[in-house]
Amino acid sequence: MHDRSNELAAWDRDHFFHPSTHMGTHARGETPTRVIGGGEGVYITDTAGRTSLDAFAGLYCVNVGYGRQKIADAIAAQAKDLAYYHAYVGHGTEASIRLAKMIIDRAPEGMSRVYFGLSGSDANETNIKLIWYYNNVLGRPEKKKIISRWRGYHGSGVMTGSLTGLDLFHNAFDLPRAPVLHTEAPYYFRRADRSMSEEQFSQHCADRLEEMILAEGPDTVAAFIGEPILGTGGIVPPPAGYWDKIQAVLRKYDVLLVADEVVTGFGRLGTMFGSDHYGIRPDLITIAKGLTSAYAPLSGVIVSDKVWQVLVQGSDRLGSIGHGWTYAAHPICAAAGVANLELIDEMNLVKNAGETGLYFRTELSNALSGHRNVGDVRGDGLLAAVEFVEDRDDRKFFDASRKIGPQVAAALLERGVIGRAMPQGDILGFAPPLCLTREEADIVVGRTAEAVNAVFTDR
Ligand code: PMP
Repeated sequence: MHDRSNELAAWDRDHFFHPSTHMGTHARGETPTRVIGGGEGVYITDTAGRTSLDAFAGLYCVNVGYGRQKIADAIAAQAKDLAYYHAYVGHGTEASIRLAKMIIDRAPEGMSRVYFGLSGSDANETNIKLIWYYNNVLGRPEKKKIISRWRGYHGSGVMTGSLTGLDLFHNAFDLPRAPVLHTEAPYYFRRADRSMSEEQFSQHCADRLEEMILAEGPDTVAAFIGEPILGTGGIVPPPAGYWDKIQAVLRKYDVLLVADEVVTGFGRLGTMFGSDHYGIRPDLITIAKGLTSAYAPLSGVIVSDKVWQVLVQGSDRLGSIGHGWTYAAHPICAAAGVANLELIDEMNLVKNAGETGLYFRTELSNALSGHRNVGDVRGDGLLAAVEFVEDRDDRKFFDASRKIGPQVAAALLERGVIGRAMPQGDILGFAPPLCLTREEADIVVGRTAEAVNAVFTDR
């Protein structure tokens, strides 16, 4: 086949404005363009013929792996039968209705309805609007503030970028916008004062949250949003007792809880939802990525019965809800979702995520924990991270300008494995497809150890 890589790379540099990319170095051709042409299982191949084991499943989303015929067939059949009809004023398609039922069947207890969108960001926009609507219907117009966490990730829109607690997503965009507030990240490893036990640190986080609610006035605080396990902010599992203590505070002040399960939904932690895994009882749940394994863009907000009842009262008073996207519940995306959830069951991927995840993380820890520049190896299910430090014994962190995380990710890529340098801190993240085998996990661990040794010996 004709190798089109050079031609495509030139067009790409001249015309394609990439998300989350250094615009200058890319346009000047100082950083390589990689054109991906195909994928099979956990592997992707580029147009120059190089294959990589994708241990980040795209952006933690291709959970069933690449090249699944069943999903491709479902998409093709739906496109042929009916590519589109909208979901406004009570319209539906078989695919979208079936998918809503499948989601509620799998969701944690007390969940009632699914509102479909296309991305995690727009689903969180929906959450914000539903929360405000809810409090207006209940006659509490002042109760509108939303508390998120530093290092949380909830999207890149104006409001969802505000919820996100990472500097890169705020700087030079005039974010965050009111009424969003950020409380302490549940990041025990990074805490300077380690005289506290993990459990005490969780209590400290809950106390900070309570102080913030009291300082703002409980009548003004509507909701708290969090990922069950911090994702883009560093892949950090919650410290012991964290969610119990946080939920006790939220209940005390009648503050809604949104579990952002865009990464954890549909099996990543070895349970269908992260809320099941950590004993979280959310009022609203955000879903995206694993819902279709990214074979088509689709997201959703799962609404609890408690919230739904109030929304219905609102409609009875105010009429139809003024919130909708043209592509909400798009039939092709919904067909991909149905086939994807069936495949997750048929391939037993939730169980595999738990079992192979434990194996992978144990091996990763065995291979790396002794290294003097490895401060922490952590994770849960098929989510893992390695955090690099200048000196393990006094937990001295590298200066960000040295870009140690990206260097290790690049060294790993040279060795045929994709991990992700997380955006804040020297953290190498892993979130492989949930179909990962032990043999593939061994490859990831072996190559990571080689990459770490290469970067730290070469310095
Ligand atoms: N929430 C979480 C927890 C996420 O990880 C992400 C994306 N990484 C989003 C929301 C936003 O999703 P999207 O990029 O589809 O807008």
